[in-house]
Amino acid sequence: MTTTGHATPRTASPRPGLPASLTPALLKRLAARVSAGPEAARVTTTTPYNGLPLADLPVSAPADVEEAFARARTAQTSWAATSVAERKRVLLRYHDLVLARQDQALDLMQAENGKTRRDAFLEVVDIGVVSRHYARAAAKYLSPKRRRGAIPLLTHTTELRHPKGVVTVISPWNYPLSMAASDTIAALMAGNAVVQKPDTQTALTALWSMDLMYEAGLPAGVWQMVIGQGSSIGGALMDNADYMMFTGSTATGRRIASDAGRRLIGASLELGGKNAMIVLDDARIDKAADGAVAGCFPSAGQLCVSIERLYVAESVRDAFVAAFVARTKALEIGAAYDYGIDVGSLTTPSQLRTVTEHVEDAVAKGATVLAGGRARPDLGPLFYEPTILTGVTPDMKVYDHETFGPVVSVYSYRDVDEAVTLANSSPYGLNASVWSRDGARGRAVAARLHAGTVNVNEAFAAAWGSVDAPMGGMGDSGLGRRHGADGILKYTEPQTVAHQRLQGFTPPARVSPETWAALLTASLKVLRGPTSTRRPRRPRRP
Ligand code: NAD
Repeated sequence: MTTTGHATPRTASPRPGLPASLTPALLKRLAARVSAGPEAARVTTTTPYNGLPLADLPVSAPADVEEAFARARTAQTSWAATSVAERKRVLLRYHDLVLARQDQALDLMQAENGKTRRDAFLEVVDIGVVSRHYARAAAKYLSPKRRRGAIPLLTHTTELRHPKGVVTVISPWNYPLSMAASDTIAALMAGNAVVQKPDTQTALTALWSMDLMYEAGLPAGVWQMVIGQGSSIGGALMDNADYMMFTGSTATGRRIASDAGRRLIGASLELGGKNAMIVLDDARIDKAADGAVAGCFPSAGQLCVSIERLYVAESVRDAFVAAFVARTKALEIGAAYDYGIDVGSLTTPSQLRTVTEHVEDAVAKGATVLAGGRARPDLGPLFYEPTILTGVTPDMKVYDHETFGPVVSVYSYRDVDEAVTLANSSPYGLNASVWSRDGARGRAVAARLHAGTVNVNEAFAAAWGSVDAPMGGMGDSGLGRRHGADGILKYTEPQTVAHQRLQGFTPPARVSPETWAALLTASLKVLRGPTSTRRPRRPRRP
């Protein structure tokens, strides 16, 4: 492996290993935003790049969560009474503040998560796109809609959308800004208050985002942040919620779904994946190899939609593998608070253990390492080289378990049916990618894949960035969707108001029930309309 890296972080800092913008005063101010009593226990987070202490945070107890909900519930009533136009003004100001202060956000995300600046910048872009979208489109999504009435002209039917109330948002550490803010933005725009529990490791970024939303004009109390382990405050977060928005592992998602079922509240679950990329025999090899690098190693592979399984047509396998391996070996890994690095650090020791275990298990059972395959303690405690495996078989953990690290297995296939079968063989169904010179052919294969998003000639960003369209998982990858109409309407209770005018559903005074039945039967026949004689178009097969 010839990957190069920086042995020491390239930082200019008043504190060891931290960039200048992360002053002790800032970190203290953000920590003070946590909903926790004065006697709260404290937790210290560390920087993945070097293992040095980063933040000293209060830990919320269940009683603090109850209080956060009480404050949020009070604030929600008047927030729900504001116009969508007023909420839009707040959200657009937040959008502008995030873009203007992005350097501080990038420093925070890198310090908390260990990702590269480029990967962190993608989160800034995501929040810009999502906040602009919901600011502009919320009025369309939420406005009362006229619906077809029971009796044409006589029934005036309207669908209204009411906020759920107080939404719990639980978010993971891998995309500290995106995962903390994206789902909250939509919940707030729909008139809800939010009580959020980010992962403790990346709580500062979530607090920074909340701070900016208040600066943008969000009324006091509408967004609350609590910190703690699921085992301690998970119960209070569930028991007080009017809706549960969870992003994290499938194992925790199942628990959340079952608890939400017990309480009969809605839940949206964005869970794990084992995402497949298919390189068709007519794909442009250089583009597909670039796409594989971009798809497999963002945030050191700690991205829910990143690629962990690569299926390549036999006829182009050797050319593709050569191009992919060369590009991967040329990646620069290291720690730097600038745009120069390609691959950053893993975030937690447990992630490093999982990645190491998956690769060691595969190698012990006969897999071949084409690139990477080892940790890099010389760069920092949690670095691991971007790794390509072949010869992976079903008895290896990496075959079907989510690694959530910079590890991809390459397989070849004989025909498109086999590629589709292999790609669909996972119980997960989050994201997939198809590469072909023929866009229509790529889209036809995409439609056969069991995945909530499929990108053609892109790994994940095209679908992720299409915020007007739903994004989420099938199968073990989750329930519900973020983005688009689904991403905001899930935070609302639909209500149908039907106003019956002039004539109701019982026969008028001088009409017999028989005549009334005949009249209604005739009306139903008219309303059915004619049967179409046009033959449906057959979908194109790849
Ligand atoms: P995790 O389930 O362990 O933790 C996620 C969050 O849930 C954290 O804030 C954690 O503190 C909290 N939590 C854990 N147990 C809880 C409980 N009993 N009650 C309430 N909260 C609880 O997940 P993780 O391993 O930290 O995150 C990585 C996983 O998240 C991967 O599987 C990844 O694919 C998935 N993920 C999915 C998406 C998506 O959009 N589909 C996005 C990012 C990450």
